[in-house]
Amino acid sequence: MIKESKINHDQGNIWRTPVNYERFPKPKGKIHIFPERCKECNYCTNYCPNEVLERSTSVNVYGYHPVRVKKGKEDSCVACGMCQTICPDFAIFVTEVRQ
Ligand code: SF4
Ligand code: SF4
Repeated sequence: MIKESKINHDQGNIWRTPVNYERFPKPKGKIHIFPERCKECNYCTNYCPNEVLERSTSVNVYGYHPVRVKKGKEDSCVACGMCQTICPDFAIFVTEVRQ
């Protein structure tokens, strides 16, 4: 049976939950970071749709704080690829985890 989609009003925008949203599993990603390449530009942390990444407290050889996966967000990556697409230094990439 096709479930009725819901209309949401979020900050003045109208969007709807896709029909039968619950029936389709979300993709899951595993993040790989090369800390020595990261220059802390924070593009990936700002554009990740699930806020999976953050600046770490460690320091790499160039004096930057490389990104890391936030605690509690280890399973939140949906393998959208935004972080690897936007990173100017090829310091991060994602692989999709087969479920
Ligand atoms: S692949 Fe997408 S969801 Fe996963 S960490 Fe990168 S930007 Fe975030
Ligand atoms: S986009 Fe790349 S260089 Fe910039 S903070 Fe993220 S991993 Fe580091």
